[in-house]
Amino acid sequence: MTFNELNLIEPILKALENEGYTNPTPIQEQAIPILLQGKDLLGLAQTGTGKTAAFAIPILQTLHAQHAERAPKIIKTLILTPTRELAIQIGESFANYGRGLKLRHTVIFGGVPQGAQVQALRNGIDILIATPGRLMDLISQGYISLKDIKIFVLDEADRMLDMGFIHDVKKVVAKLPSPRQTLFFSATMPPEAQKLANTILNNPETVAV
Ligand code: AMP
Repeated sequence: MTFNELNLIEPILKALENEGYTNPTPIQEQAIPILLQGKDLLGLAQTGTGKTAAFAIPILQTLHAQHAERAPKIIKTLILTPTRELAIQIGESFANYGRGLKLRHTVIFGGVPQGAQVQALRNGIDILIATPGRLMDLISQGYISLKDIKIFVLDEADRMLDMGFIHDVKKVVAKLPSPRQTLFFSATMPPEAQKLANTILNNPETVAV
């Protein structure tokens, strides 16, 4: 299969071509059509499978189709990921695949001063990529509202639990509006991860690679 068969818009196909990608990976081939239909997804996939593009591409296409650029100061998509490194990589993916679109994103994580992150939020973004602790900090200071989130991604859920983020994750989830589209990615599904998936997903499709 090629990306041309996945009903992607021209700017995204062009960006993928620029990246040198010709064929979707298995998680991309299976997840992209599900996500473009607006369905919830349970994705069982490790880093290295191409899972970032599997969610970034349909999110960019969906926001573009909804004319998200017309309300650029409102955060419509939240991606929660456990580490700074993953957050930065996800940000780079959105920059690469969304090159031909006018959607804006920013990345926030702990361990660095918050000033530049707050400024980026003030400038207005469509897509927020965050680690849990800094996200909760900036929410409690009033810099972030989650009330317009339409798509929520929980990335590396098992690692998130291992790192002790369950409390923060639950606090974030409690602030998310419904209805929304939820994507839950995990390499493994221990009982605690399954329990979390059950509470946040609504009638999901499952893709395992
Ligand atoms: P990820 O699993 O999201 O961390 O992606 C692993 C690596 O695969 C990243 O370096 C991506 O740039 C690369 N990648 C993702 N999708 C494709 C694709 N369809 N073809 C070739 N490389 C890809």
